Amino acid sequence: MTPCRNFIGGEWREVSGLATQPVYNPSRGEVIAEVPMCGADVVNDAVEAAHAAFPAWRDTPVVERARLFFRYRQLVEENFDRLCQSVTREHGKTLAEARGSVYRGIENIEYACGAPALLMGDTLPDLARGVDCETLLQPLGVCVGITPFNFPAMVPMWMFPLALVCGNTFILKPSEKVPLTSLIIIELLEKAGLPKGVLNVVHGGRDCVDALLTHPKVRAISFVGSTPVARHIFETGTRHGKRVQANGGAKNYIVIMPDADVPRTVEALSTAAFGCAGERCMAGSTAITVGSAADHILPDLVQAARAIKVGPTDIPSHQPDMGPVITAQHRERVMNLVANSEREGAKIIADGRNLKVADAPNGFFLGATIVDQVASEMEIAREEVFGPVLNVVRMDDLDHAIELANQSAYGNGAAIFTNSGKAAREFKHRVKAGMVGINVGVPATMAMFPFTGWDESFYGDLHIQGREGVQFYTQQKVVTSRWFRENVGDVWRK
Ligand code: NAD
Repeated sequence: MTPCRNFIGGEWREVSGLATQPVYNPSRGEVIAEVPMCGADVVNDAVEAAHAAFPAWRDTPVVERARLFFRYRQLVEENFDRLCQSVTREHGKTLAEARGSVYRGIENIEYACGAPALLMGDTLPDLARGVDCETLLQPLGVCVGITPFNFPAMVPMWMFPLALVCGNTFILKPSEKVPLTSLIIIELLEKAGLPKGVLNVVHGGRDCVDALLTHPKVRAISFVGSTPVARHIFETGTRHGKRVQANGGAKNYIVIMPDADVPRTVEALSTAAFGCAGERCMAGSTAITVGSAADHILPDLVQAARAIKVGPTDIPSHQPDMGPVITAQHRERVMNLVANSEREGAKIIADGRNLKVADAPNGFFLGATIVDQVASEMEIAREEVFGPVLNVVRMDDLDHAIELANQSAYGNGAAIFTNSGKAAREFKHRVKAGMVGINVGVPATMAMFPFTGWDESFYGDLHIQGREGVQFYTQQKVVTSRWFRENVGDVWRK
């Protein structure tokens, strides 16, 4: 079993006497670690360590902070395979998917390396006679990151590199389902020369999070996870005076027009729906086919879904196309949603529910599943499924397709597949989602753009990543200055 320790004030700390929760290798259904469920005492130690480290880190020149992240980027690259294998072992995604996600994380480190340019302020000389005005971007203090299970390396990397180069100190509370990759992240930061206390890791669940949300010395909270928890984080954090950005769940629609390129659309749709076993906040979980599009697309899509090889992902030399879902309970939930849709009148045209994987009989596997003739009022059409399941809703025209997508409570991503510029333009302007793809199935934004969820997919004002990320982790000071020659005295002549 891998030991799962906290990292506080530059020391690895063993925890004893606390309740623990098992961490699984979902490919095997085996327990690989026990994660301690820390509470307010441990959180207080971490916050005090981060608070004590803040003044020296804030006063470290920004070029030095950035240089540390250049070294860190190099170390992540050198330990790339090890990181990806850790992601695969505790999450279950394939190595190819883990590689893609760690690269998205590296791009966030690269963006953070640009801190000297990102933190430049504005100046306006001679605002009035002899009066100059300038803005300074200054760090907030102790910031916190609370992360979900589905991207054990990437989502923490959305947060701490930018928070730290901006001069803040940080506490990471990883998902209790995937706490092990964060240990490698810390090890590499230590090697890069991060001073003690600048980044701390505490493990736990709700109690740990609530202690972070209410601690008076915490200034800002970045959260990524499900919508009910995002709402709780936003409400509790802001009530306690914190700056909060809270990303929630999603239900992403992909509209397929009758003129869409069939092979490209099938490939993109299959990746969007079944990539990472559907456990992505940007998964394309509902296809809205317009007019005859269903007849063009569905036969090939069903064939593609049935051809997806599912299996254990923990042997680097034998990789399947798709790995397991995170836990046995989650697999059960996904299967129930599919069964309910069938009872409500939908048709299962590719059924992955009874999949058996001979060489990994205890893994949490589900095959690619397609549910056709879904109606907008069905539970499966409204709820986030977070599994390898694609719903198909058939519509007569683009107006009705957009209307359906816009009924969603969420607003993360939406995409259209078409060869018509006019249809694409109409969709781009009218669809209610923060990230839009045109012939792109997963329009998740890269490090230089904000991750712009809307509605129930995001609570807060400033999104994660890009310039909004910099704004989130800094506060602006506007300095207006004026000097008087007659007061200078002798200095002027020397
Ligand atoms: P989750 O909400 O269960 O957990 C996320 C974090 O919150 C974990 O660290 C967990 O310990 C903590 N937590 C859980 N319950 C809590 C509670 N009651 N009070 C306080 N803290 C609590 O999410 P998950 O199952 O780990 O991740 C999947 C969800 O994350 C999906 O809904 C997915 O869409 C979402 N997600 C969103 C984005 C995005 O950018 N919008 C990205 C990735 C994942």
